[in-house]
Amino acid sequence: MKISDVQTWVLSAPLKKPMGGISHSGPRYSRKTALVQVVTDEGISGIGESFAIPELVPAIIQHVFRPMLLGRDPLDAAGLWDLLYAGLGHHGQKGLLVEVLSGIDIALWDLRGKKEGKPLYQILGRVHRTRLPAYAAGLYFAPLDELRADADAWARLGFPGVKLKIGAGNLNPDEASVRAVREAVGPRVRVMADLNCGYDYETALAVGKRLEPYNLHWLEEPVRPERLDDYRRLRRALKMKIAGGEGEYTRWGFGAMFEKEAVDVAQPDLMRCGGVTEGLRIAHLAEQFGVPISTHAWLSIVGMAASAHYAAACPLFESYEFEMTENPLRDEITVQKLETRDGELTLPQGPGLGLDFIPEAVAKYLVLRT
Ligand SMILES: [Mg+2]
Repeated sequence: MKISDVQTWVLSAPLKKPMGGISHSGPRYSRKTALVQVVTDEGISGIGESFAIPELVPAIIQHVFRPMLLGRDPLDAAGLWDLLYAGLGHHGQKGLLVEVLSGIDIALWDLRGKKEGKPLYQILGRVHRTRLPAYAAGLYFAPLDELRADADAWARLGFPGVKLKIGAGNLNPDEASVRAVREAVGPRVRVMADLNCGYDYETALAVGKRLEPYNLHWLEEPVRPERLDDYRRLRRALKMKIAGGEGEYTRWGFGAMFEKEAVDVAQPDLMRCGGVTEGLRIAHLAEQFGVPISTHAWLSIVGMAASAHYAAACPLFESYEFEMTENPLRDEITVQKLETRDGELTLPQGPGLGLDFIPEAVAKYLVLRT
């Protein structure tokens, strides 16, 4: 079997209600992503997803990766990872190129699962778990009564934890939001707060201290991912855990993070960090350093399903981030839906990622196919 083509689908789905945004950006009006399809001469294909800026993915595939992949064995994901990464020279240690490589790698693993007729989680090594402890994420910037209502509804669904956004520049609303969510879910549900790198060290320290009475489970991405020393200082100074890693790349990036003792919980995003192949290397490195993984996945059901299979193979695993807000690319484009029950995610069971696309639904959101 040989790779005969690599294609890109750029999808964009408008939202009925704008999303409340994160620390340094305003509301969002659509969900967008780029899916990568690896096609073979045997007619089997695999699908992956990239965190890269969607409109740039077709050009990177066409001009960088497709020529390196044509004619290669698609079942050799680890070998192809090394080949593509080496082929980038010094252009691709972090950033867009690794994000596109991530999408290709996920597609290769989906393809292999389909070839073997097995769900992806069954071919990634030891299956550590088949139900994934999940938490409900969302609670973007919104009026307090909306935050209370959503947090309460999610806790009632059985999620053991909920996560909200803070960090937009003023500690008073940060505290008010956390207080509202804590009051809505009661003392036993975990509350996590995500700053999306909104603050510098001093401000993150001040907000962390202010939030200690609310018994946060973790403070997420308090400062930029480059500031590993600040992460370590915050871990030492604050009572809650410090989480981070959704903006980090490859085993080398995570290795530096672990050596610096920067985080209590690592949050690799498979669509960014290097795909399934590199994600597994990161998971084993995390085990060596005693740092549990909590997966980050945000775009479409493709990446969310890949993260679920991957989570089953992580030796040390904390939780699966289940994003709760409006997302047609999660809910509408495949026959299968992601299902949670009592706060746990059920693994998809079909071959590969276990997803079958609904062509009309994909066509509805497809803005570019190359
Ligand atoms: Mg986050």
